[in-house]
Amino acid sequence: MTDGERHRPPLGPVRVTPADPRYRDLIRGVNHRFTGSPGQIRIVGSAEQTVEAVQDAVNAGLQLAVRSGGHCLEDLVDGPDTAFLLDMSEMRQVYYDPGMRAFAVEPGAHLGDVYRTLYKGWGVTVPGGSCPTVAAGGHFAGGGYGPLTRLHGCVVDHLYAVEVVVVDAAGRARLVVASWDDEGELGDLWWAHTGGGGGTFGVVTRYWLRTAGATGSDPAGLLPHPPSAVLDSLVTWSWEGMTAERFRRLMRNHAEWHERNSAADSPYASLFSVLGVMHPSSGVLVMSTQMDATVPDSERLLAAYVDALDEGVGLCPAHTVRARPWLESMLQPTLPDTVTGMRSKGKAAYLRKGYTDGQLDALYRGLTDERYTNPGAGVLFMSYGGAVSAVAPNATATAQRDAVLKALYVTLWREPEEDGGHLAWIRGLYREVYAHSGGVPVPDEVSDGAYVNYPDTDLADPQWNTSGVPWSSLYYKDNYPRLRRVKASWDPKGVFRHALSVEPPASE
Ligand SMILES: Cc1cc2nc3c(=O)[nH]c(=O)nc-3n(C[C@H](O)[C@H](O)[C@H](O)COP(=O)(O)OP(=O)(O)OC[C@H]3O[C@@H](n4cnc5c(N)ncnc54)[C@H](O)[C@@H]3O)c2cc1C
Repeated sequence: MTDGERHRPPLGPVRVTPADPRYRDLIRGVNHRFTGSPGQIRIVGSAEQTVEAVQDAVNAGLQLAVRSGGHCLEDLVDGPDTAFLLDMSEMRQVYYDPGMRAFAVEPGAHLGDVYRTLYKGWGVTVPGGSCPTVAAGGHFAGGGYGPLTRLHGCVVDHLYAVEVVVVDAAGRARLVVASWDDEGELGDLWWAHTGGGGGTFGVVTRYWLRTAGATGSDPAGLLPHPPSAVLDSLVTWSWEGMTAERFRRLMRNHAEWHERNSAADSPYASLFSVLGVMHPSSGVLVMSTQMDATVPDSERLLAAYVDALDEGVGLCPAHTVRARPWLESMLQPTLPDTVTGMRSKGKAAYLRKGYTDGQLDALYRGLTDERYTNPGAGVLFMSYGGAVSAVAPNATATAQRDAVLKALYVTLWREPEEDGGHLAWIRGLYREVYAHSGGVPVPDEVSDGAYVNYPDTDLADPQWNTSGVPWSSLYYKDNYPRLRRVKASWDPKGVFRHALSVEPPASE
């Protein structure tokens, strides 16, 4: 095999128009609430093909959108304005790049591919999300967090460099590599990809991963090592017998536990749980937890966690625990992805501490509202904190560094004619929980804004955000002015834009 053959892209460029039989398969992502209608789709297999595709879109004056894994919660890709869709899903290599002394990950690589290859090849990983089919493309640019985040921070805390197709003021598309070693505008471009969100500065064709401060040339020493085994636990509290009082107690126990146990050096740093406070028609409130099984006394620590949550609730939850190899647990999560192929709406929030009693009452009222029934609706509370807080809020574009929980409000359904009812319920619930701050999680003692990888266009809608605090401050806080300057430098023609893309400074 010649060098040329070895480095040949896997495919492409492939041009798909509406008459092509493949078109219908390509015009929507995971959330079936949105279906795009682009005049052209370009599937690319290399960075060079991506440059060419972006140039073609710019020359034709077509509004461009980029898809990698298709897990976007909003219509930022499949919106009505998208005329040219760039599909990165076939660029999915993961490998060690000795020249960069870092691991290269292409944007179409699913998290499951990333975990499998990094672990089988070198015994390392990154602290990314728990859904194996989310792709690096959007996930990394928005920050990325998951079961190992309390131990090792966000994915972007291990982002060494990015390769991006950008478009200059003359309308010329070109490939740029920016790393944390760079200063000035290049350094800014790297920084913007550490939480600035996807689809807003250019098209990422490659990420390189290496933990800050990692030395030597042995790849096995350049990223974190996951635990060899984890305890996977599932706890369920029945809705039968649940009262407002018990609900408040459980939620308070959960949040106060996280307030007490989220320091970077906590013996519980390896514990990550998702508490699903689902609609009563689902029958149960469910919590899945993953914890390093090799930590001394791990089983007792895990049992003490469950006891702390249950204290005073008085409902005798069902609890199962099994030890599993780490990779198996990541590739087959205890709570499977039930979102794919459904219509959905998500809304998010960071919590610095537990909700007030007034917020918990609003949550309980919303969940038990008899006018609404949906077992696929509820709020997920994810463990956060730990190593996240070891990084300064402005060191990366991921500003929220002292939250102890993330919340994801979600509702899932199938039928298009039901859209109105489900959207009304989730919007009403969120607005009630954040009634004291204009219907959104304005940073204060309890809240710390929202996570850009769970985009919610309602935050930019004055009907739903009456706080006077712009959506951009909720996502980026004090990092927004710098992101706007990066936008002006690197996307002067505003080629990469969607409903929640970073705006250039007002004077530009
Ligand atoms: C079921 C599910 C589970 C999730 N679990 C987690 C989790 O555990 N942790 C977590 O942090 N997040 C999680 N997320 C959120 C996830 O991180 C984001 O949805 C992420 O943006 C998805 O990336 P994608 O490439 O799969 O999606 P896409 O829809 O392809 O892209 C999302 C956004 O990124 C942009 N983008 C995509 N590729 C590129 C590229 N190559 N260059 C520039 N911009 C690009 C798109 O234009 C779009 O704006 C989850 C989402 C879902 C639906």
